[in-house]
Amino acid sequence: MSHSRFNAIDTILNRTELDIDFQDQPIEKISSFFGCNVFNEQAMREYLSEDAYLGVKAAIQAGTKLSRETAEVVAKAMKKWAMDKGASHYAHWFQPLTGKTAEKHDSFFSLTPDGKIIDEFNGDNLTQQEPDGSSFPGGGLRSTFEARGYTAWDPSSPAFILEVGEGKTLCIPTIFVTYSGLALGYKLPLLKSQSYLEKAAIPVCQYFDKKVKRVSVTLGWEQEYFLVDEALYNARPDLVMTGRTILGKHASKGQQLDDHYFGSIPERVYAYMRDMETECHKLGIPVRTRHNEVGPGQYELAPMFEELNVAVDHNQLLMDVMDRVARRHRLRVLLHEKPFAGVNGSGKHNNWSMSTNTGKNLLSPGKTPGKNLQFLTFFVNTIKAVHEHSGLLRASVASASNDHRLGANEAPPAIVSVFIGEELTKVLNEIEKGKTTKEDVKKTLDLLSKVPNLELDNTDRNRTSPFAFTGNKFEIRMVGSTMNCASPMTVLNAMMGAQLMKFKTEVDKLKGKGKDTDTAILTVLKKYIKESKAIRFEGDNYTDEWAKEAAKRGLGNFPNTPEALDAYVSKESKKLFKDSGVFSDTELNAHHEVMLENYILKLDIESKALEELCLNYVLPSAIDYQTALAENVANLKTVGVTAKDCTYQMDMIKRIAANIKGLHAAGKSMTKERHKAHSAKTSRASAIHFCKKVKPLMEKIREFADDLELIVDDKDWSLVKYREMMFMR
Ligand code: ADP
Ligand code: MG
Repeated sequence: MSHSRFNAIDTILNRTELDIDFQDQPIEKISSFFGCNVFNEQAMREYLSEDAYLGVKAAIQAGTKLSRETAEVVAKAMKKWAMDKGASHYAHWFQPLTGKTAEKHDSFFSLTPDGKIIDEFNGDNLTQQEPDGSSFPGGGLRSTFEARGYTAWDPSSPAFILEVGEGKTLCIPTIFVTYSGLALGYKLPLLKSQSYLEKAAIPVCQYFDKKVKRVSVTLGWEQEYFLVDEALYNARPDLVMTGRTILGKHASKGQQLDDHYFGSIPERVYAYMRDMETECHKLGIPVRTRHNEVGPGQYELAPMFEELNVAVDHNQLLMDVMDRVARRHRLRVLLHEKPFAGVNGSGKHNNWSMSTNTGKNLLSPGKTPGKNLQFLTFFVNTIKAVHEHSGLLRASVASASNDHRLGANEAPPAIVSVFIGEELTKVLNEIEKGKTTKEDVKKTLDLLSKVPNLELDNTDRNRTSPFAFTGNKFEIRMVGSTMNCASPMTVLNAMMGAQLMKFKTEVDKLKGKGKDTDTAILTVLKKYIKESKAIRFEGDNYTDEWAKEAAKRGLGNFPNTPEALDAYVSKESKKLFKDSGVFSDTELNAHHEVMLENYILKLDIESKALEELCLNYVLPSAIDYQTALAENVANLKTVGVTAKDCTYQMDMIKRIAANIKGLHAAGKSMTKERHKAHSAKTSRASAIHFCKKVKPLMEKIREFADDLELIVDDKDWSLVKYREMMFMR
């Protein structure tokens, strides 16, 4: 019998190096080609006049709108640059709420009404496009009369050339909105949250340094992923359709031995990484770190941190590049949060901080004591903000696929808490205990100066924490590997902005009553330290004791997406988003709706894919083997061995029968529940039904199927096995 599984294994075993595109790996220095496909400073200087260049730069830096004339000049320069590099098309590149990126290509080539051939790309083409995109999720924002979506240029993120094979396309980062300007994608709310946070942070910085005129948010993401051979991938319909294995017996060897983690990188994977990194570097994505992760076949890469908006774009672009390059190497990259049960899933840690135009990282404790009050201000306000809006932060990383990580005892739990380490805990405790007379403030500041250099002390880490201070930034570990970082970043910026505004008001009030600035600041911080104490947790986040303790402290625990998402539309969140201008109520409701729809669609697809796998693979394999066993027993009877003596065969026949029966019953129930889920009155009710009724049945079906996989003759099993996907390269 020829199974796709064995064909796939044969393909791998017979593969020669020549089958894999090892691309000419450049021996050039990275610095010699870094950003060569980006319309960056260097390109702008070369293609724009001095005046135009300075004008564009100033507008981008100040975040002001570019005039029509400037847009015209930039478009001309961009077209020349792109065509000099061989680009034939341009595209507005945007980020709809699918989590992926989208692009619609138009050629520069055009015909005038009188039939002349021209290369066209003007200011209008640059600044706005109408890709329609009415099939992207909109959460009801677009009624039929304004169904179209519009994209608008985001000059703060540089345009780039995407090379796919021989094709080269000029890509322009854009926001995606409705006709009336409501957000349909991730970028617009992100940009709004960023400028809101900046507006709130500048006056606070000015308590310490009047020279601070700009504050930008910084993000350094870390991307985890799995690699699987293309042949095996294609022989697993669930991977192809859902990005994860929805059934499959765990291999006897998984990650127990920890022999993969930071191990030597396999040669084939290494070739892939180098190739992919080269593509990234050409696109100006400053990737720097690579290593094996815990799961077999799991890896990680991280760049140097960048300004938030650009960092988010770069991560979105990276996920696209990773996939494209993997195909050249006959590999498939799995970005799903939980491709394999029983081994670690993948996350995308978001390292977040803020920095000033004076070059100061606002979350860096630094060495000079006086300045530490500034650090403390931003540090404590972050903790306070997370305490106030922990539910919303949880909601911002909620998705069907991330539910497999959060709360599953391997990644941070669904309970949001903040880890700050022993030294800083001591500092906060001192402040909390201390008085806030002028004398005491001085003492506290002296004490801060004695805190060892935290930036150098990387030993003090808690890998189980969802939100951890790591020396000079906060690391949000709840983010899922497939996610657009914009989602948690938008929420974090908004809540931090609102928090800093409150802080400023309170400090100014005390100052108005005659307190000096330092004392006023420390007084308010002291209050915040007390008020937000419940969110701080230094212990093991994976334990049951913590779940109990957290409940006592009144912290939220929402292990599933439909319920976690409620926090988006709570009264507090609505107020936060309205005050910050990040989402109007209408936009927020639509966003919530889309997130629920995404959840429903994912589970619907998974449940149907599971049904197919059972019907087309699992059950036929099991029945074949059962038939063979029954024939064997019947044959033995002809030579005088009775069924009573065929204990193994009979046990297996019965075990297979029991599993088939169980699977059949659970399958029927699952289909019924799925239909019920679809007829629920609201999206939320439908999502909850999927979560509470359909999902448990999927898990039950998997148990039957996995037991069948364990006992059925290997040669009869038609689905690629875990050990093959994780260890065969
Ligand atoms: P690890 O956490 O793996 O030990 P690091 O702490 O050195 O490694 O850095 C992890 C990530 O944090 C990197 O992507 C890095 O760019 C990012 N990072 C470092 N400093 C900042 C900062 N000030 N703002 C945002 N991200 C930062
Ligand atoms: Mg890290």
